[in-house]
Amino acid sequence: MGPGPNRPGPHTFGVTLDVFRRPLRDLRVSVTDRCNFRCVYCMPKEIFGKDYAFLPQKEVLTFEEIARLVRICVGLGVRKVRLTGGEPLVRRDLERLVAMLAPIADIDITLTTNGSLLAGKAAALAAAGLKRVTVSLDSLDDATFKKMNDVDFPVQRVLDGIAAAEAAGLAPIKVNMVVRRGLNEDSVLPMARHFRGTGRVLRFIEYMDVGTSNGWRLDDVVPAREIIAMIDREHPLEPVEPAYRGEVAGRYRYRDGAGEVGVISSVTQPFCSDCTRARLSADGSLYTCLFATQGHDLRALMRGGATDEQIRDAILAVWTAREDRYSELRSADTAGLKKIEMSFIGG
Ligand code: SAM
Repeated sequence: MGPGPNRPGPHTFGVTLDVFRRPLRDLRVSVTDRCNFRCVYCMPKEIFGKDYAFLPQKEVLTFEEIARLVRICVGLGVRKVRLTGGEPLVRRDLERLVAMLAPIADIDITLTTNGSLLAGKAAALAAAGLKRVTVSLDSLDDATFKKMNDVDFPVQRVLDGIAAAEAAGLAPIKVNMVVRRGLNEDSVLPMARHFRGTGRVLRFIEYMDVGTSNGWRLDDVVPAREIIAMIDREHPLEPVEPAYRGEVAGRYRYRDGAGEVGVISSVTQPFCSDCTRARLSADGSLYTCLFATQGHDLRALMRGGATDEQIRDAILAVWTAREDRYSELRSADTAGLKKIEMSFIGG
């Protein structure tokens, strides 16, 4: 059936739909492929060591190029832009990019960070127009956290970053914890206890088979329902309806009113059918799935002198042809595909 009066075409009124009629709503922008942590499940030292070839600076998009692509994507329906990486705060003067994006009408700008540099940056980011931050923290126990970040980084400095972000008005803060069997599942309850009643929303992420360097096995995944059951036994929880289509986290509230927790269960309960996200890598390729094996080079178009209209048409062509649903198709075989690393594509 073709588009009719009650059936919008793939690009109508700033809404761009893919093959499964999923709108393009969110853009995750990786501002760098570098990180100051070497989390064992994301950028293990054996691979991302001293000799690892990160992108040379000239291959990384400039802030002007990023802002141009964001503006074009907003014209196609994007309403939420998340700056990520690598570690976004290792990119110098990130607040300058935030200041360039903030005036773009109708978008929500957020940032995902490991929190290590947040204490020194929060005020400048907020002043530049950032609205909220999500901070990754995998344990409150120093020994466990250091074993996971593998650069001897202490928990307290991340907590200081969270406090600074809150003081700067970047609230409500979301805290993301990746749970990997045998590594930090015993940190689930201490984290839940710590963040309950603080207004900070803790979200547990199932360990995923992104990239190929983390040696992922299904046995390492702690299913979201197990995490929720663990917390529920101590502090009873009840589910909350999703706030909007495409919300990644399943939400639960404490029955005693002490706030919420979330679970991102992309392995055990995939949410591809509601996925409204595109990703822009630090070198300007567009990816339509976190588990993609290939991107679409927008940098070459831009640097080759393409007009906004031509770039817009290229993005439109990619999104309208999109049929990714990796997490729904995941199997022992797909785990071995040559996927792009999360630190590159933007987590
Ligand atoms: N450096 C920033 C940070 O730490 O939040 C942004 C990039 S990082 C890749 C984004 C998020 O992805 C972090 O919360 C990280 O823990 C998570 N992550 C990385 N590898 C993962 C994996 N294999 N499974 C699940 N989450 C993962």
